[in-house]
Amino acid sequence: MILYAEIVQSMKEASMDRAMNEEIGDPANEEDVPDESVGIVTDARHAQRRNSHRSDIMALGQINHRVLAHMPVTKKEQTCTQKHEKVGTERLYRQLDEMGVKVSDHAHDRNQSINKFIRERPPYADGTRTTNSNDTWHATKAIARKFKRVSSGPVRSRGVSWHPQLADKGAPLKTHFYWCMARCGGDEQVLRDMLLNIVQHYQNRHDNCHPESRCRADPNYRPTKLLLTEQRAVELLTNFVRSQDIYKSAKDYVLCKDTLYVESFNNSCLQYVDKRIVFGDLNYGLRMGLAVLDWNEHVDREATSRYVRYSVANIRQVQGKRILTAKKYTFVRELLLTFLARVKAAGNLPPLPQRQPQPQREDGALASGSDNSDTDFSAEDEPE
Ligand SMILES: [Zn+2]
Repeated sequence: MILYAEIVQSMKEASMDRAMNEEIGDPANEEDVPDESVGIVTDARHAQRRNSHRSDIMALGQINHRVLAHMPVTKKEQTCTQKHEKVGTERLYRQLDEMGVKVSDHAHDRNQSINKFIRERPPYADGTRTTNSNDTWHATKAIARKFKRVSSGPVRSRGVSWHPQLADKGAPLKTHFYWCMARCGGDEQVLRDMLLNIVQHYQNRHDNCHPESRCRADPNYRPTKLLLTEQRAVELLTNFVRSQDIYKSAKDYVLCKDTLYVESFNNSCLQYVDKRIVFGDLNYGLRMGLAVLDWNEHVDREATSRYVRYSVANIRQVQGKRILTAKKYTFVRELLLTFLARVKAAGNLPPLPQRQPQPQREDGALASGSDNSDTDFSAEDEPE
């Protein structure tokens, strides 16, 4: 296992190096490729559900979504689990600085200490800075729920703390927020103005609406939601928009970045590192290495088809689910061959332990064992 873990580690590092080169050299990145900059998405994953001994800070590329760096942090380094993400991020930046790689944009869940860390980092030699982006999904997921406070309530406070004219605007408001983040062109003030314009849009005044939106582009457009005619409803909606993180910290959302891929990686890790099991250092490192190799080989593999099922429970979900091709797992085979070659090269192996004679089932067991193709790798694919 020590040898196997060593091989996994070196293969993982090679895989992350390849991913880094790919991420830097991608022509889709920018016209001026020469400056070595990458956009990254990071998140911390705790190995246990509470008070975890170890955490892993993963950095994924924003273009190819492969793992570029893995920073494990344990309680030996920092006793407070909640501070692991900051420790790992600092180490990540030290490593990237040593490699001479600049971070153009860093997206993460809204972790305030990381926000502060990125903001306070000195600019690079050429004057550029890392832009800080927060996850749009975390920022918008609660909007519809929070909106219930101003769109429904007891009769006695009707028209005071809530207003019936807002009743049908929870979910569409969330869509509006996404739409504004995606179209603001990276400008803080534009994003704020677009968000406030939502109120006017619902008053059926579309002078400042985006030229691409249907209320401007379609001459037959009719509002489908209740119009805001009362002053109190307008005030409530305005205050609600102003109270959202996206409005208050608009600069962290102007690039409309999400951390979906890194959350997805955290989920896919679970097949290697079960949260209910506390692994030792060697075993844990090996398993995380396998998780990274698996992810880097299989992320964004193509789909054979799309499966659409309309559900009453979630009527806004229309895109359907992609049916992916089967995983190839070429890294497992490569690992096995490298491992066998290393074992063979080591030589002087102790003889295999003698099997206890079990006359009643020896024939059957041996026969089925010998023609099992999984264990018979070395004979046909022996590396030179
Ligand atoms: Zn409009």
